Amino acid sequence: MTSFAFGAATDTGRIRSANQDRYLTADPVFVVADGMGGHLGGEVASAITVEALEEAEMVGSIDELIGRVQEANQSIVQRARQRPELKGMGTTVCVLADIKRAGPNRLGIANVGDSRLYRLTDGGLHQHTEDHSLVEALVRDGRLSRAEAAVHPQRNIVTRALGIDEKVLVDAWELIPVVGDRYLICSDGLFNEIHENEIADVLQSVSDPEAAAQDLVARANAAGGRDNITVVIVDIVAADTHGDVPEDRITDTRKALPDGVLKVERSTPEENSDALAADADPDPDEIVVETVPTVITWRLAAMVAAVMIVLLVMLAVLLQIGRSGFTVVEADDGTVEILQGESFLWFEPTTEVETDIAVIDLPESAREDLAEGVEFDSLDRANLYLENLRGPNADSES
Ligand code: MN
Repeated sequence: MTSFAFGAATDTGRIRSANQDRYLTADPVFVVADGMGGHLGGEVASAITVEALEEAEMVGSIDELIGRVQEANQSIVQRARQRPELKGMGTTVCVLADIKRAGPNRLGIANVGDSRLYRLTDGGLHQHTEDHSLVEALVRDGRLSRAEAAVHPQRNIVTRALGIDEKVLVDAWELIPVVGDRYLICSDGLFNEIHENEIADVLQSVSDPEAAAQDLVARANAAGGRDNITVVIVDIVAADTHGDVPEDRITDTRKALPDGVLKVERSTPEENSDALAADADPDPDEIVVETVPTVITWRLAAMVAAVMIVLLVMLAVLLQIGRSGFTVVEADDGTVEILQGESFLWFEPTTEVETDIAVIDLPESAREDLAEGVEFDSLDRANLYLENLRGPNADSES
């Protein structure tokens, strides 16, 4: 039996006019959802998610937890279809839940987007989830350092979210609950404003989870409050843990593929007073990067495009070679004809001009030339040659 002490706080922040973050502390399910997309959409998407997971109550495995998150995703997609004004809405989700099952209890964690779950132990603060964001992908690619990512102007771009597509990839873990461990679930409005060292200090020094959550939100506001801020803190106060516990607490991992960035979609700008704030600082959550099955990346797409261009150029060159040139020859029926092109790879010459000139009537030298074929680089010159064959001087040329 695992039991929890918990507390939460949320705030609109100092710049945005609405709070699109939602949280849930329905022991033993704890959720943070950061909605995005338009004036109303973000709020709806995060609210649907929290409602869907509240109904989840106790799940029996991380696969079941993933299933609940996917159901929440379906609900958002369906709602957006019913109400066009909500099109483009999406939300992150980060959930911690007790997994009631046969054998020792476990914690289940599921994550989509750039909200985070941290774990504070004696060893310090550890970010457990991996952000599904553009900057995280760039860091993973080695194109950006951690420090650069933390201040990157596009650090608000999310590469995975609920509500974007019928299918969603969910990262999930099963963990051993350990008494004394403290979990923090938060939206990016927290860690984009204050440093992780400061977050760790508060989590270590303020024992009451509710007070610690309020302290963190207040500090994020003091640091700028440029986005909605949501903090849920969950302490493990009882657990039937036996045997050695690994440092990372993890007993099972269901990680989806790394994000590929397929399409950047800027949703409709908010038509309210937020527009004023947006001038100084773009809305922190207004951009969603859509990833359909994340196997195709821009890099791959660019490579494919480059290869296609090279192939097309080669084809054009081949066509040019294959179709160029005119040859005057003796046709099968013994007359003279002009062929265009030459035998080259899959090209065969085609008859361009047929004549009634019988080769047999021509002088010996012309017959020999025609047997081999007389080549010209233009049709005009080939025609001129024909005129000469026909001409009154043809006979005398031999
Ligand atoms: Mn946010």
